[in-house]
Amino acid sequence: MKNDLSFSFEFFPPKTPEGAQKLRDVRTRLATVQPNFFSVTFGAGGSTRDGTINAVKEIFAAGLEAAPHISCIGITKAQIAALLDDYRRTGIRRIVALRGDVPSGAAGGAGDFRYASELVAHVRESTADWFHVEVACYPEVHPQARSPQEDLQNFIAKVRAGADSAITQYFYNLDDYRRFVDEVRRAGCDVPIVPGIMPITNYSQLARFSDACGAEIPRWIRRRLESFHDDREAIREFGLDVVTALCERLLADGAPGLHFYTMNQAEATLAIWQRLGLQRGPAAGPRIAAGA
Ligand SMILES: Cc1cc2nc3c(=O)[nH]c(=O)nc-3n(C[C@H](O)[C@H](O)[C@H](O)COP(=O)(O)OP(=O)(O)OC[C@H]3O[C@@H](n4cnc5c(N)ncnc54)[C@H](O)[C@@H]3O)c2cc1C
Repeated sequence: MKNDLSFSFEFFPPKTPEGAQKLRDVRTRLATVQPNFFSVTFGAGGSTRDGTINAVKEIFAAGLEAAPHISCIGITKAQIAALLDDYRRTGIRRIVALRGDVPSGAAGGAGDFRYASELVAHVRESTADWFHVEVACYPEVHPQARSPQEDLQNFIAKVRAGADSAITQYFYNLDDYRRFVDEVRRAGCDVPIVPGIMPITNYSQLARFSDACGAEIPRWIRRRLESFHDDREAIREFGLDVVTALCERLLADGAPGLHFYTMNQAEATLAIWQRLGLQRGPAAGPRIAAGA
């Protein structure tokens, strides 16, 4: 079994001191399994700028690899330059470069960048190889893309602009991931494409997110989740079964790692981790236990 898989955990910046304390506890629990990095999201238009910076610096200060997300919509080049400079001076070596979405109803000034590819190009021009640059991709096609073919070309343009690797939007249909990776490889692009994993713990929340980001909840999963009504334990057990099976198949298929959308919670991610039989490698990062 490969020993160089990338495992990462995503947080969003807490809004309150209580949220910050809770996130510290969650991070401490998740750090015990030694992921390769923790990433922290960035509200479009810079709405969580300080929260993201603080959370990232705290993770870094705890001796862990921290990867800030930077979304460029509604942000000026000067603001991006200041962020990159701050992260660079802190010693951060990895970022997740995104376009972001203007929240509905928000005025959302245009900013200096229209697409993530322009941000990636700017990061490379201004900081050379300092940062490992991650970008987003969409096995089920980005909801605003004009066509799947154009979305694929736009993704490849992001890689050609200088991205090192990609993290997918979450999905529950393995074939969508396989198809996307095959198409990227056929286009001559060999960057690692790490599947984004959304644990299932709360149906209404998952349905809301999926509506917002265009990720599909397959009908059979929706029907089962609906049938559990308010039975949280049944939802949790079913969610663990479904997501663990997906992760197992992804890793068996050769996926280069897993990126967990933790929703600032440790339980579900750790439960999936344990079921997968993942354990620490001898150096940094985890590996799959022999015989798992
Ligand atoms: C792993 C991951 C992390 C995320 N983290 C955050 C976060 O922290 N903050 C946040 O606000 N959002 C985040 N998002 C959501 C993301 O910002 C949205 O999905 C957004 O709509 C697209 O961002 P992108 O970087 O993929 O955009 P892009 O790669 O710029 O693509 C956006 C759309 O534009 C199209 N496109 C790209 N280039 C061109 C071009 N030259 N001409 C015409 N069309 C083009 C693409 O096909 C696509 O439809 C994340 C998503 C993922 C998968």
